[in-house]
Amino acid sequence: MCTVCGCGEPGAPGHHHGHGHDAAHHHGEDPHSHHYGLGPAGVSIADLSQARIVSIERDVLSKNDGYARQNRAWFEQHGVLALNLVSGPGSGKTTLLERSLNDLKAEMALAVIEGDQQTANDAERIRATGVPALQINTGKGCHLDAHQIGHALGDLRPPDHSLLFIENVGNLVCPAMFDLGEAGKVVMLSVTEGEDKPIKYPDMFHRAAVVLLNKIDLLPYVRFDVQRCLDYLRQVNGEAAVLLVSATTGEGMADWHDWLRDQRMRLLNARATSLKSERAALMAQL
Ligand code: MG
Repeated sequence: MCTVCGCGEPGAPGHHHGHGHDAAHHHGEDPHSHHYGLGPAGVSIADLSQARIVSIERDVLSKNDGYARQNRAWFEQHGVLALNLVSGPGSGKTTLLERSLNDLKAEMALAVIEGDQQTANDAERIRATGVPALQINTGKGCHLDAHQIGHALGDLRPPDHSLLFIENVGNLVCPAMFDLGEAGKVVMLSVTEGEDKPIKYPDMFHRAAVVLLNKIDLLPYVRFDVQRCLDYLRQVNGEAAVLLVSATTGEGMADWHDWLRDQRMRLLNARATSLKSERAALMAQL
């Protein structure tokens, strides 16, 4: 449930599943697809007092942060680079993944968690590349949460030292608030959208480790001022890397893949260093 946008069911906080209180959840029956929150909406958010909304929200987010910490520890332990891919609907997340997976699959182990409200269409597109994918259907939910990711890891089991993409539900609002335990957020924007999205959705763009400006092959046909978009982005995020790409023509994709390789190397080096110091500490005790 997300009280921010009023989706889901107030009063039943938590993305309930697998604990005997969600009949619509098919976890365990189909390990390739997890379903949450099907059925009619519950109490309207408008029926709740502001204080109640704030208290539910705080409770939901602090529970989420607990699960996110568990996921992060698991990723660290297994040397898995997990990236949370977010954008509005239709920016080209799945198309980008298809190309990246095809280009990188010979080089490293890969896995994908797909989040959508309904359908397994995107997971099927990903599996066509030969990379394992698990679909999470959030039902009424407008974002993935850390608890869902924890369950997904149980079935997907990404191999050690793999690169795991988590394609979030297409939404630039609520996914900003829900840490999944990822190493970083990849925020995508396409040139067919408004160039002012970074300042319209500052919470999301502020949290980006990298911003991908996609569909640059369409720049001659649309009114999109790249420089103005980057200026807006810098108002909310001075740090994020920015890459101009076209997932359909492949332009700029080599830079994106280099960024991924670099992140993965950093993670694996940090892992090796911490293993070495753990070993040294053990030896010192002998
Ligand atoms: Mg998609």
